[in-house]
Amino acid sequence: MDNGVNHKNVRVRYAPSPTGFLHIGNAQSALFNYLFARHFNGTMVLRIEDTDTKRNVPHGEESQKDNLKWLGIDWDEGPDKPNPKYAPYRQSERTAIYSKYVEKLLKEGIAYKDYTTEDELKEMRDVQRANGEAPHYDGRWYGRSIEDQKKAAASGLKPSVRLHLPSHHTYAWDDIAKGHVSFDSDNMGGDFIIQKSNGIPTYNFAVVVDDHLMDITHVLRGDDHIANTPKQIAIYEALGWTHPNFCHISLIYNPKTRKKLSKRDKDTLQFISEYKRQGYLSDAIFNFIAFLAGLRLVKMKFFRKMN
Ligand code: GLU
Repeated sequence: MDNGVNHKNVRVRYAPSPTGFLHIGNAQSALFNYLFARHFNGTMVLRIEDTDTKRNVPHGEESQKDNLKWLGIDWDEGPDKPNPKYAPYRQSERTAIYSKYVEKLLKEGIAYKDYTTEDELKEMRDVQRANGEAPHYDGRWYGRSIEDQKKAAASGLKPSVRLHLPSHHTYAWDDIAKGHVSFDSDNMGGDFIIQKSNGIPTYNFAVVVDDHLMDITHVLRGDDHIANTPKQIAIYEALGWTHPNFCHISLIYNPKTRKKLSKRDKDTLQFISEYKRQGYLSDAIFNFIAFLAGLRLVKMKFFRKMN
């Protein structure tokens, strides 16, 4: 190990949702992963996170791939370059795998079915807010009898599945970019959903199962995901798996508003396709994003003593 990076068999992934556009912030994550993989002679995996079917657009995957290729970012494994050991690479084709692990956790009693309705959830949150508490799931279906569950199912309710969090438990990791980060299980919003009532796993669950089964060694992504990481570590622990190294990269900020670049910031081109359309050379954009990324890499002493 050196600066948190074990050089051997590095496997990283870029995991876009096929929502149509390659945003400059995601391009930065893709580029980080790409440079990291190439630097360590590792493997770059492209995984398509397409379980949120409402957000998917036709040809969204193609558009991601075309924009990545235009930028000069390629990958070693993905839907179009499957390694039989790890395929398939689209989450929508992996639902049977996720269900198997949800069933395992249900059987072990670490996860449980929750029949709370949307209205009840809303009321729960309203009451908590009125009491000055942060909204959280209160665990009302944890440990409920089989009869109660049967009754709820017979009334036509479809359960979601939640992971039970132990109380006063610390979820901590040494982040390559951020240093030591820790969360207390009591401040994570309560037991959280791993499988929605339509049977589709949540992002946090699918990503853990995939990163583990795909032997991902380093998760490099935007720091908007930091609050997801303790939940993901809870899932790793529940499944008895070791979590990969995490590196949460600062997002691109608008220097004027000093806030995360938002779609409302009309003075900044935000999608790779816009740069392409306006005639920018792909090398210039690659260099521009690499420069932004590079400043952070230097700050993180990422590649120090690496060679
Ligand atoms: N599909 C997620 C996103 O687009 C990936 C997050 C991750 O890298 O874990 O934000």
